[in-house]
This record gives sequence, structure tokens and C-alpha cells, in this order.
Amino acid sequence: MTDTYLDMVNSGLGKQVAGKLGLPRPVTLRRFKAGADFPEGSVLVLGKGRAADAAAKDLLAWDLDVRRTAQDVDRVGAVVIDYTEAQNPSELGGPALELASALRKLRRGGRVITLSRPALGIGTGAASGTAANAEALSPAVSAARQGVVGILRSVAQEMRGGVTANGVLIADGVSPDAASVTGAIRFFLSGRSAYVDGQFLTVSDDRGDAGVDWDHPVAGKIAVVTGAARGIGEQVTRTLAASGATVIPVDVPMAGDALSKLANELRVPALQLDVTDPQAGQKILDLVTARYGRLDLVVHNAGITRDKMLANMDAAKWDSVLAVNIESQLRINETLLASKDLGPAPRIVCLASTSGVAGNRGQTNYAASKAGVIGLVAATAPLIAAKGGTINAVAPGFIESDMTAKIPAARRQISRRLNSLQQGGLPVDVAQAITFLLSDAAGGINGQTLRVCGQSLVGA
Ligand code: NAD
Repeated sequence: MTDTYLDMVNSGLGKQVAGKLGLPRPVTLRRFKAGADFPEGSVLVLGKGRAADAAAKDLLAWDLDVRRTAQDVDRVGAVVIDYTEAQNPSELGGPALELASALRKLRRGGRVITLSRPALGIGTGAASGTAANAEALSPAVSAARQGVVGILRSVAQEMRGGVTANGVLIADGVSPDAASVTGAIRFFLSGRSAYVDGQFLTVSDDRGDAGVDWDHPVAGKIAVVTGAARGIGEQVTRTLAASGATVIPVDVPMAGDALSKLANELRVPALQLDVTDPQAGQKILDLVTARYGRLDLVVHNAGITRDKMLANMDAAKWDSVLAVNIESQLRINETLLASKDLGPAPRIVCLASTSGVAGNRGQTNYAASKAGVIGLVAATAPLIAAKGGTINAVAPGFIESDMTAKIPAARRQISRRLNSLQQGGLPVDVAQAITFLLSDAAGGINGQTLRVCGQSLVGA
């Protein structure tokens, strides 16, 4: 599960050879480190609108060296561009060309972040909350707004050195200084978003807490993670625990040994449970409330693949994937939402997949289940909002884990490189994105699917 090519091209000789041959040169990404989680160098805030002023205020409060022009800046750590007031595509060029002049000064692991409003149409690949303003937008405004998506996604593809580019979409009616605008900017600057690239997060309401302790963003929360015995689920459990939560890991009895080991280490009870059990939701609530009195956070991570081309698919392979990956989530959520034992700001994150966004050869069953997760999340958002909470999905791309270790070697190598960061992600990259979405910093982000895929070229 290690990427030997990445290690090789970061060694002295390997670097030279790869450079001469024009081979991809992925770099080790800047990942989250408590207490040292900003890019190195100045942060350039371009644009003169309210959102630019609000962002500059946040950045100053984080003690960053904030500049409002690219002139006289040597080392740039991040560029934040405010496009929220763009009315016409003719207004896009100015800030884009100012960004151009700063790009060569961007440091390794740097960031480009756009702030804009959602357009109409297919938008960002995430539910972007555009229905409410459907009648209010003129074609020119919608064109300008969607133009920002094109700029951002292209910039992300052009960056090297582990630099990422992501955007915050601020829904109409939401203030540019809403708590989750601050939260999303903080996330995109952070090493917690190391493998998120070319993506957008929509802030759809003013809820959330801008003052969350960034090193412990889920402090005091009671959480459950399914499929926690290994891989992404194990890492989610560890990351949430390191971020301040009490986390109860859940997995099938067959994974009991690994599960107990993890639970003992974290000094929490383990729950051996198949998520397809019709009583799974109630069993989770019973254990957690008996011990801790309430349940705040749930991560639906348990998932399986049974890959076959559709021509060779059988009912057992189809049904088992749908049962674990989507039907269990639907059933458990129904129980949770009907319960009185949820905390005051319940948050759920569901694991989707880029296969659910774009489809994938040999994965009709898996893609049906993971696309289903994206639909589930969008429709559950208003239901959980009524209880003060949020539900979102993360869609990982190629992540180094036992699941992807099963992919034949040659295909695995290709899959790893087919993204803007030219490498697979690590389970911790998915875990960090989930941790942010479960934190109160993301309280105004609801019903979204965030891809953690290094801007995989699959399904753009
Ligand atoms: P994994 O196979 O390494 O781990 C999955 C865990 O889920 C295992 O511990 C397994 O025992 C548990 N599990 C399976 N069926 C269960 C059930 N019925 N009840 C309870 N637990 C069950 O997988 P992973 O790579 O860590 O993936 C985790 C999640 O991320 C899955 O939902 C997967 O579809 C999704 N995902 C992974 C990737 C990737 O590249 N690895 C990409 C996209 C999405």
C-alpha cells in the first residue's frame, strides 16, 4: 500500500531522471500538523468586495501576513480571490491575471482559494443550493459565476508542488462573513485538505461556529464510525479521537480482533455489528446512550466492492453491495432521525466515491450504491437541518488501502497518477476532510458531496 514511485522521484537521483524524462513528479503533500497548519509565506487577498474584506479580517486574526496586492511580495503561501460580486464574464479577467502574476511566487503546499456565488446549471458536481435563486439570476451573472468554476478547476490542474486550488461558494442570502465561510477558508488553507483539489464547498446558511479550536475541532463530541477496524474507517476513528471526540468503533464480528485492539487503545467500547442488521441503528443508539447519554456524530464508512462487468454480474454481488453501502445507511439514518437521543447539533458524514460521481467500468453495483449516497445526503439535509444538524458526503478517489490494493498492479499505477496531484491519497486525507465536515466550523455546509480525490480526472 505504499507508493514507491512517489518515494523514488523524491530521492536525489530519481528526481533528476524523472525530470529528464518528463515523468510525473508528485511531491509529498503538506498534511495537517497541530499548531503549524498554515502555508508558509504571505496570503494575498485579491478583490475589493465584502467577501475579500471579511476574508482579510479572518486571515489577520490568524496572525497571517495579509497583502492586498501582488506587488512587493516575494513568498506567497496562498491567494484568496473574491469573485462574489461578479456580474459579467468580462469582470473575470482582472483578478485572474493578477493571480497569474502571483503564481510563480507560490510556495510548495500553497493554496489558491476562490470566493464566489453559485451559478445555475450543473454547477460544481455538488448540490449547490441554487434552486432558491433560479429566477433571480440573469444569464450574464450566471455565466460569470460559472466562469469562476472553469477558472478554478483549470488553475488546480496547472499547479505543481502540492499546491491545491479550491473554491467556497457562498449561497445567495448568506453573508460573506458567515461562520462556515470562515470555516471553509480555514479548511482549504489547512493540511486537513491536502488531497482535496479542484473542488467547491457551498455554504448554504449562516449557522456554524467560527471560533472552533482548529487543533480539536470536535472536542467533547460523541461519535460512531462504522467499518472502523481497518483502512479509512480506522483512520477516521483515530483522527476524530485526536481531534477531541470520544469515538465508538463499529465493525463486523469477523473483524473483532482488530476492532477490540483499536477500542482498547482509545479506551472506548467496541461494537461488533453488521450494519445490514435491521436493528443496527437501534443497537448503536442503545450502546452509545447507555454509556454517554447522547450521540452527536456518525460516519457511515462501512463499504464493500464486488466488481464485475455488468454482463457477468449476478444477484448476490449486486445485492450485497447495495445492502452494505446504501440500504444500511438509509435504514440507520431513519432510526437516528426518529430518535430523541441525538445531541443538539447532530452531524452525519457518509462515504460516497468518485465512482458514484462518474461511474466506473466493472462497478455498476458499487456506482449505484455510491451515487445513491449522494442522493441520500441531498434529500436528508433539510430533515437533519430541522434538528440543528448537517449531513454531507465525502467522495474519495484513489486512496491507498486494502480495497485499492486488490486492483491489478498496472491499473493501480495508472489510477494513482490520473489526478492533479499525481498520487493516491492516504486514509488520513479522507479522515481529515470528514473531521472538518463533522465540526461546528462546517455548521452552514449541508447536503454536499466533497470529493477527496486530488482532482481525479475521472468525472472531473
Ligand atoms: P476496507 O475494505 O479497507 O474497509 C472496510 C471496512 O468496513 C472493513 O473493516 C470491513 O470489515 C467493514 N465492513 C464491511 N462490511 C461491513 C458491514 N456489513 N458491517 C460493518 N462493517 C463492515 O475499505 P476502505 O478502503 O477503508 O473504504 C472505506 C469506505 O470508503 C468504503 O465505504 C469505500 O467504499 C469508500 N471508498 C474507498 C476508496 C478507496 O480508494 N479505498 C475510494 C472511494 C470510496
